[in-house]
Amino acid sequence: MAKTAAQAGSGRVTVLPDARVSPRYAGLVTFGRYPRLEDVAPENRPVDWVIYGAPFDCGVTYRPGARFGPRAVRVESQYLKRYSIAHGVDVCAAMSLADGGDAPARPYSCEGSMKAQVEFARGLGDKTSRLLAIGGDHSIAYGNLRATWERLGGPARGLALLHFDSHLDTVDVVWGDKWGHASPFRRAIEDGIVDPRRMVSVGIKGPLNTPTDLEFARDHGVTLLTYDDIRRGGTGAIERFVRALGDAPAYVTFDIDVVDPAFAPGTGTPSVGGFTSAEALDLVRACRGVEVVGADVVEVLPDRDVSGITALLAAHVAFEVLCLDAARRTGVGRRVRRGAGRG
Ligand code: MN
Ligand code: MN
Repeated sequence: MAKTAAQAGSGRVTVLPDARVSPRYAGLVTFGRYPRLEDVAPENRPVDWVIYGAPFDCGVTYRPGARFGPRAVRVESQYLKRYSIAHGVDVCAAMSLADGGDAPARPYSCEGSMKAQVEFARGLGDKTSRLLAIGGDHSIAYGNLRATWERLGGPARGLALLHFDSHLDTVDVVWGDKWGHASPFRRAIEDGIVDPRRMVSVGIKGPLNTPTDLEFARDHGVTLLTYDDIRRGGTGAIERFVRALGDAPAYVTFDIDVVDPAFAPGTGTPSVGGFTSAEALDLVRACRGVEVVGADVVEVLPDRDVSGITALLAAHVAFEVLCLDAARRTGVGRRVRRGAGRG
C-alpha cells in the first residue's frame, strides 16, 4: 500500500500497547506508553527519538525536588495521544520512539552527575537516535546538549538553541560551582556546543539579581525575546528566527517555569506573569520547520504541583517537540512554512 505524505516519516513506527487490552491506566509506566528501548523490534530500528529521564536537582539555587520530575511526567504522559490536530501528523506512524529509562545521577556532585549523564546519553539507543531528556533541574540540559552535539560529529559552528525560560541561565559560577542550573548555556557556549548567534531565549521576565545578568547574552549575540516582547508582538519573532536558521541543527530546551505559576505551579524557581498552558504549546508550534536534533523539558517539581497539571503540561510540551520533527519528516512542517497552496 502506497504511503501518503502524512504517513511517510522515517519509515519506522512506534508500536503502542493495544488500549482495548491494556487501558491507559494499566501496565508499567513509560513516557507516552512508548516501548522501552530494549523492547523495540528490529524493523523499528534505528529508533528516531529516545526519551529518557535525568532525575537530578542538586544544581538548584532555590527549591529542590525536580529529581522527581521524570517520574511525574511519565505518569501524566499516559494520556498523550498520537495524532496532532495542530500539525496534522500521527507522531507514532511517522517515527520510532522509545523510553530509554533514566540517566544515572550523582546527587552530591553537579559535575559528577553531568559526566555520568553524558556517558549514559552517549551510548543511548542507536547512533542516529535523537535524545529528549526530561528533567530534573535545568543543569541537565548541558549533558544532553553535549551528547547531541557529539552524535552529530561535533559540528564546529555549534548547535542552534531555542531556549524557553523565565531565566537566562548564563550565570558563570554560583556558590563556587560552574555546573548548576543557572549556568548550562554559559558552559555550552564556552565549549562550542551552542552557537550564541543562533541562540534565542524566549520568555525572559521577572526581576534580575543585577542588570549585568543581561550582559553575557548581549555580548555574545544571543537573541532575547522577553515575555513582554511576545505578549505585545506575538510569536512572529520566533517564526522569523526559525526561518533564518534554515536547515541548521537546532536543540530545543524548555524550562517549565516560563509558564505562569498559575498554570505550572510545580516548579522550583517560579516567576509570575507568564504564559498560559495554551500559549506554551503555541511557543513550540511557532518553531515549525526547524531541524530539531535534541531537546529537554525541565524543572518540574511534583511536590509543589497541583493535580499534576505542571507534569501534564510538560508531557504535552515534550510531545509538541516530537511533533516538530514528525511534521518535518512527513513534509507537513514545510508546507505550513511555505504557506497555503500545497495541499
Ligand atoms: Mn532554566
Ligand atoms: Mn527558569
